[in-house]
Amino acid sequence: MSFEEFGLSPEILEAIGAMGFETPTPVQAEVIPRLLKNRGDMVALAQTGTGKTAAFGLPILNMLNHELRAPQALVLCPTRELCVQITRDLEAFAARTQGVRVVAVYGGASIQDQLRALNRGVQIVVATPGRMHDILRRGKADLGGVERVILDEADEMLNMGFQEDLEAILAQTPGTAHTLLFSATMPHHVATIARKHMHNPEEITVGHRNAGAETVSHECYVVRERDRYAALKRLADYYPDMYGIVFCRTRLETQAVADWLIRDGYNVDSLHGDLSQSQRDMVMKKFRARSLQLLVATDVAARGLDVNDLTHVINYNLPDELGGYTHRSGRTGRAGKKGVSIIIVNMREKGRAHQIERLTKTKFTYPEVPTGRAICEAQLLSHITRMKSVELDHKQIDPFLPEIYEALEGMDWKELIKRFVSLEFEILLKYYRGTEDLRPGGDDGRPPVRDGHSRRERSSGPGRRDAPAGARLAVNIGSADGLNPRKLTGWISRAGGHNVRVGRIEIMEHRALFEVPVKDARALARALDKNPFDGRAVRVEDAGADRGQKPSGRPPRGKPAFKRKSAARGKSKGKPAAKGKSQRAGPAGE
Ligand code: AMP
Repeated sequence: MSFEEFGLSPEILEAIGAMGFETPTPVQAEVIPRLLKNRGDMVALAQTGTGKTAAFGLPILNMLNHELRAPQALVLCPTRELCVQITRDLEAFAARTQGVRVVAVYGGASIQDQLRALNRGVQIVVATPGRMHDILRRGKADLGGVERVILDEADEMLNMGFQEDLEAILAQTPGTAHTLLFSATMPHHVATIARKHMHNPEEITVGHRNAGAETVSHECYVVRERDRYAALKRLADYYPDMYGIVFCRTRLETQAVADWLIRDGYNVDSLHGDLSQSQRDMVMKKFRARSLQLLVATDVAARGLDVNDLTHVINYNLPDELGGYTHRSGRTGRAGKKGVSIIIVNMREKGRAHQIERLTKTKFTYPEVPTGRAICEAQLLSHITRMKSVELDHKQIDPFLPEIYEALEGMDWKELIKRFVSLEFEILLKYYRGTEDLRPGGDDGRPPVRDGHSRRERSSGPGRRDAPAGARLAVNIGSADGLNPRKLTGWISRAGGHNVRVGRIEIMEHRALFEVPVKDARALARALDKNPFDGRAVRVEDAGADRGQKPSGRPPRGKPAFKRKSAARGKSKGKPAAKGKSQRAGPAGE
């Protein structure tokens, strides 16, 4: 099936031709003909990155009444980023068509500007549910002429708590409008929306129901809890060309992992809800431009980040909702490319990994964390491959060659290679020499008797743990907010925790960690959440993964995130100097 056979207008065909679309993706082949024939409501189970935007966008554009300056199609999606992306895509599809007006309506930006754009007369509105509902409540938009409603990433919209907004918006669209719902997974609440607001929807599945893209392979690494961070670094070293997202569960964990990686010389930044919108935009921009190798992110912050050529996603910790795994892994293996989803779990979490395998009908492999030798080998080979494909710049190098040839005269080529490798990889080889393999072992959750790591492996990251105390809680205030151990215990007492035995306390500038018995942790966290500290609402989180770490402080709010990073490899203490790409991706003090 080709795009021409769908009967799309020559202008649309020309525009998508210029974008390099040659053959329709499976979801496009299923959806486009149905929409063009107005075949009623539809539920499409499809992953992100499968070409969904064109699947609904091309028929919508093809069927627009260009004379009419009133909304004829409404696209609802979960995030500002996705909203902007969809709008951009629709505008690109309509680049050769006269008189098409699309407006993006989302929170966190001036509502007045958006209202003005709406007033100028648009045919397609792309909106996040919260802002759209707000505009409708103010009576500033009329959806009476809408003929098509698209619910994109419906599962995400509902997970983010947009149910009420969605219902209110759908109630204001005409009963005759056709609704098309896209979702990567089909949990109960999505099925309910479909039942309630759609008329006998036809259900199509592209790929397996609740399953991830087939182009993604899944590698699960089982390690001791204390080795989680070391495993992450080894994997980043093992895949020198890795370009991916490291998913963490909480904002604090995200910031902590990003801080450790930056300190250890990796080219990363963090993306989470404690950053302002403009900070997030900057980080995403840098990541898209590949100025960053890895992005450490929470699920919510990474939503809508549209990058198609990620080689890896890494589940530093599994998501709380197992369905969230599909969304994470769906970020790689997009647009037909291959991708790897890496999962790092401890022994106790192995069962959850199996649960995800069953739920998503996906098979994980369970490789061992690469050994030092395997990492060196991978880096050397990657370097050699790059060397073989480098384009020679004769103009630059030729003038130096005679002298170099003379200096090396008489040396046989094998000797030359040995010397080149020794010199280029001296630090890397020394670094990994004698490091122990990271195996699961049987003592998970307990402190090591002797961990056997090299000094550098132990000296950074969260690998050390002093005592197997109970739970560890983290709060987003620190010495800069006037917190000290006495005030912390006083605050805990006032919150009703006078009987709670508080263990080790670490207070940093903007964040603090303290240990409490496991049995008290949850109730205390809840109580503290409700008890302002010095009149200030505070967030308390389980910092289980932080145990024993030597955490770096959270950056001061308001400071651009990208300024914190950029610890270019080789700049940190005791780190191999950043030279070629393989060195950049080399080990950085596990
Ligand atoms: P989407 O799922 O709509 O975000 O699309 C994922 C990516 O695939 C986007 O970068 C699209 O531009 C690209 N894409 C969509 N359809 C096609 C197609 N038929 N051929 C080539 N690329 C496509």
